Amino acid sequence: MILFEFDHERPNTPDEAVALLTHAGPDARLLAGGTDLIPNMRYRTVTPALLVSLGAIQPEAPREEKDGSLRLDALAKLVTIENSALVRKRAPMLAESAHTVAGNQIRQMGTLGGNLCQDTRCLYFNQQHDFQFVAPCYKRGGDCCYPFPRNDKSTCWSVFMSDIAPALIALKAEIEIQGEQGLRRQPLEALYAGDGLKPHKLGQAELLRAVIVPPASPRQGWGYHKESVRGGLEFGMAILAATVTLAADSKACEGARLALGAVREAPVRLTETEKAMAGQALDAERIAEIAEAASQEVNPLPHHGFTKAHLRDVIRIQMRRLLARAVERAVNPNA
Ligand SMILES: Cc1cc2nc3c(=O)[nH]c(=O)nc-3n(C[C@H](O)[C@H](O)[C@H](O)COP(=O)(O)OP(=O)(O)OC[C@H]3O[C@@H](n4cnc5c(N)ncnc54)[C@H](O)[C@@H]3O)c2cc1C
Ligand code: SF4
Repeated sequence: MILFEFDHERPNTPDEAVALLTHAGPDARLLAGGTDLIPNMRYRTVTPALLVSLGAIQPEAPREEKDGSLRLDALAKLVTIENSALVRKRAPMLAESAHTVAGNQIRQMGTLGGNLCQDTRCLYFNQQHDFQFVAPCYKRGGDCCYPFPRNDKSTCWSVFMSDIAPALIALKAEIEIQGEQGLRRQPLEALYAGDGLKPHKLGQAELLRAVIVPPASPRQGWGYHKESVRGGLEFGMAILAATVTLAADSKACEGARLALGAVREAPVRLTETEKAMAGQALDAERIAEIAEAASQEVNPLPHHGFTKAHLRDVIRIQMRRLLARAVERAVNPNA
């Protein structure tokens, strides 16, 4: 699959990158590690006239801020995130989620920002098109949808498959965005549009600068699971992340955040299930009920051959296991 011709710029600072994006207009794209963008360009699902490479900008190392939060440069490679002693100590779920992304070669190249801004995926979309299909689908600018033929052209049910976004959402992370007007900060979950045609709400001349993870509360535990057929090297079938904070008695649930990936066009927060957990004693029986409620709160999109019923089963079973693990870690942080 030969790449088409395009221009390439390599700015030295984020300001220069924003200026280039502003000047070039909608035909420009940011290039970080290229592990998502370049395959998509080879498949011609995206055909930018200009790539603005972030490769000359040196990322800062992960660091702890004065308020105890963890600051991660969006240009940090995934290997940096998974191996950083500070990240492993302060946000071990984030390190684990970075470790689950693809294989080592991809993690050596891929960045945190690129992972959070990757495109949604669909079996019909992410492959060479010419000899497979007669007509382009809606997301390719055509007039049909192969897996969901009753959808109209405003709807694309491709799935957002970042392994890291659900972990960061469960950790209540915020992002720093740089644009023409300067820097702004918002919760990570507000980045996602829930639209397979245009999954992110970043402006055309904006880039992700940093991810900020707040300090964990006392008695907070976590659980993370990426379900896939072959373990490593594969995109997730379903990704589950949770944090649970226990009250001073170390029994009742004071707060929880549950997030799923690879089941919809954006990461999904299970806010109803979270509310139902408040004040509950999280014993095995209650955890099983919560896991059942979690699997019913989400309406998973069938994708890559996995049915809705199967995805719900995976969510129910794995949510039960990871909530039990989160409670264990909340009671004993060294568990
Ligand atoms: C074989 C293979 C397996 C993979 N497996 C997984 C997996 O298991 N889990 C998973 O989550 N991902 C997986 N990926 C997807 C991808 O490799 C990773 O998500 C990676 O982290 C993307 O980062 P990147 O720097 O290479 O992004 P790029 O490819 O450089 O960029 C991706 C998108 O993000 C935009 N972008 C990049 N940086 C920024 C920024 N700072 N601000 C704003 N926009 C930005 C780009 O314009 C582009 O649209 C896989 C990819 C391949 C090829
Ligand atoms: S779900 Fe989206 S990407 Fe997949 S075929 Fe339909 S329109 Fe295309």
